[in-house]
Amino acid sequence: SAPDQYVVIGNPIAHSKSPSIHAHFAGICAQHMEYARLLAPLDGFAASVAAFRQAGGKGANVTVPFKLEAYALATQLSPRAQLAGAVNTLSFNGDQIFGDNTDGVGLVNDIVRNAGIALKNKRILLLGAGGAARGVLLPLLSEQPAEFVIANRTLSKAEELIVLAQQHGNGTVKLQSCVWAALQGRFDLIINATSASLSDEVPPISATLFDSNTLAYDMMYGAQMTAFLRFAQTQGAQLRDGLGMLVEQAAESFYIWRGVRPETAALMLELRRALESQ
Ligand code: NDP
Repeated sequence: SAPDQYVVIGNPIAHSKSPSIHAHFAGICAQHMEYARLLAPLDGFAASVAAFRQAGGKGANVTVPFKLEAYALATQLSPRAQLAGAVNTLSFNGDQIFGDNTDGVGLVNDIVRNAGIALKNKRILLLGAGGAARGVLLPLLSEQPAEFVIANRTLSKAEELIVLAQQHGNGTVKLQSCVWAALQGRFDLIINATSASLSDEVPPISATLFDSNTLAYDMMYGAQMTAFLRFAQTQGAQLRDGLGMLVEQAAESFYIWRGVRPETAALMLELRRALESQ
C-alpha cells in the first residue's frame, strides 16, 4: 500500500527541520509514512489544506504564519489548543479536522523528562505574551507550579493571558502579570518566549531573578547562544535552548498521528551536533 502522507505547512517553509525529524521517527518506529514540506501562499492556507486532504493526506503540522488559521479550520479542538488559540497539529479523518497544539507539552517534556526538572510547587516566570507564550500556558499550569508569573513589555497582553489561565486553572496556582521592572524574588524556571532574541536583545529584567538553581530556557535555538541565555549564564544559571522543545513537539504530533511515542535522545544529539558544526 502507499505510505500515509503528512506535511508541514508554512510560509516560508524551506528552513523547516520537521521533515527530517519525522523521517527519523518513522524510521525508528517502523511507520509506513512520508512527510514533506508544503509552502502555502499567504492567502491560501485553507485551499492548500483542502487540496492535501483531497489527495488523501492524513495530517499536517502548521507553522508560521498559519497557526491561527489552523485553529479556525479545525472542527474539533483539544483543550490545550483551545486555550492556546492556535493549532500546530492537524489530523484528518473523513469530514473531521482535529486540531491540537503540541508546543506546550513539547516544552514541558523537554524540561521535566529530558532535563529531569520537576515543576510542581516551583516558581515559574514566563517572559513574553505573544503566540508562543499563549501556546504553552495549559501544559505549564498542569504541572501545578506554586506560582506562575507572566511579564511582558505590553502589560495588557500579559493580563489577558493571566485571565485565560484563571479560567482554566484549578485555583491552586498563584497567578500574576507584571512589567519587567516589577519582577521580584528568584525563580526556579524562567522561560524566554519573547522574540527579542531574534534581534539579539534581552528583555530588561533584573539579574536577581536568577541564581545557580534557576533553569533559564529560551524557546529560540541556533548555532549561537541567545542574548537571554548569555545574560542568564553571567548569573550562573542552568541553561537550555528551544531545540528540545522543537523535537518534543514533533514527537507529540507523531504520537497523535501514529499512536507510537518515538525515542528522542539520539535525534537531539544528532541535531545538536549539526547546529554546532554550522
Ligand atoms: P509574537 O510576535 O506573537 O510575540 C512576541 C513577544 O515578544 C511579545 O510578547 C512581544 O512583546 C515580545 N517582544 C518582541 N520584541 C521584544 C523586545 N525587543 N523586547 C522585549 N520583548 C519583545 O511571537 P511568538 O510568540 O510567535 O514567538 C516568540 C519566540 O518564540 C520566537 O523567537 C519564536 O522563534 C519562538 N518559538 C519557538 C518554538 C520552538 O519550538 N522552540 C515554538 C514557537 C515559538 P509585546 O507584547 O510588548 O509586543
